[in-house]
Amino acid sequence: MRSEHLKETHRVVIKVGTSSITGGSSGASSEFMDSVARQVRSLKEKGIEVLIVTSGAIGIGLSTMGARPRSREIPIRQAAASIGQSVLMQKWNDSFQRYGISIAQILLTYDFYSDREKYLNLRNAVQTLLEYRAVPIFNENDAVCVKEIDAMFGDNDTLSAMVSIKMDADLLIILSDVDGLYDKDPKITKDAALIATVTDITDTIKMSAGDPSSKVGTGGMRTKIRAAEICHEAGCNMVIANSTVPDVIERIVAGEEIGTIFITDKKEKKKTSWIRYANPSGTIEVDEGAKNALSKHVGLLAIGIKGVAGRFDRGDVVNITFNGNTIAKGIPDYNSDDISKIKGLHSDKMFEVLGHKNYDNVIRSENIVIM
Ligand code: GLU
Repeated sequence: MRSEHLKETHRVVIKVGTSSITGGSSGASSEFMDSVARQVRSLKEKGIEVLIVTSGAIGIGLSTMGARPRSREIPIRQAAASIGQSVLMQKWNDSFQRYGISIAQILLTYDFYSDREKYLNLRNAVQTLLEYRAVPIFNENDAVCVKEIDAMFGDNDTLSAMVSIKMDADLLIILSDVDGLYDKDPKITKDAALIATVTDITDTIKMSAGDPSSKVGTGGMRTKIRAAEICHEAGCNMVIANSTVPDVIERIVAGEEIGTIFITDKKEKKKTSWIRYANPSGTIEVDEGAKNALSKHVGLLAIGIKGVAGRFDRGDVVNITFNGNTIAKGIPDYNSDDISKIKGLHSDKMFEVLGHKNYDNVIRSENIVIM
């Protein structure tokens, strides 16, 4: 029973794809946006907090500029994002005003999950907005982030998963023009069947759906599965559904069998998911003994370190590699200069060489995540 899994849902992130916003046309669909606002109000009346991740800036901007609908030139997409974002927010504002709800625009760059200070600031801002009963509406800051609008790297599916886990949501709803995840690509295979429930994101699940990307957005099923993986590890449920289903948001939250649900019972510690997704500031290469020790969840000693690359401070996240392959990530208690002086040494020698010592371990076990 879905409703059993969703009964503890207190905070929901709704990701709205470009195709849903535009309803297949070149502008924003007020009808759809009004219906989202109406459903959000009804969730808020039940005490559920709602955050939105919206796409559509580039799509709307390109049509306002009279540019080619699927232009892939980065400067044109950056310009389109800046034009489209303000139109998009105006439309969201119109819709939410009808239901007496204030909205807040938050444009993110991906470093919000690597830079702890930025993340904490964002958390405080979002918490305050929710206390004031406003609905935060996120998008990528596409005008300054070339990476984010290049379909190879950034997309709002992944962004919405990161927002969900960093803002402690219990449920992410991804609305787009697909009904959910199919066992085969429904655009190619007639007998493709919708998968209603996924509890384990296996390789078969990852392979199952091909990539039915829609015309104007950048995401496809692949990025949605990636989003599901991120949510799964962090203990956030996720549903993929078609935005054209009437009252889709309210019905999903009520536990109706719509689209595909990815159910999780994990609850990764915040610090663990922080380490897992942070951009590494450097690399520590270890020997086989250290590699084996790490797999038994013990800390990393200087004696097992073969090399250091990059400049990092203590407290930064680094990759831990064996033969050049990342086997773990961690937060060292020593900076890169210190580690290059003590690598290969027994812990007894650390004080003698450095003139100071924090811990015997260069990285303590609680600060290591096996990848
Ligand atoms: N941030 C992009 C936009 O608002 C959309 C990215 C996506 O579709 O995933 O146009």
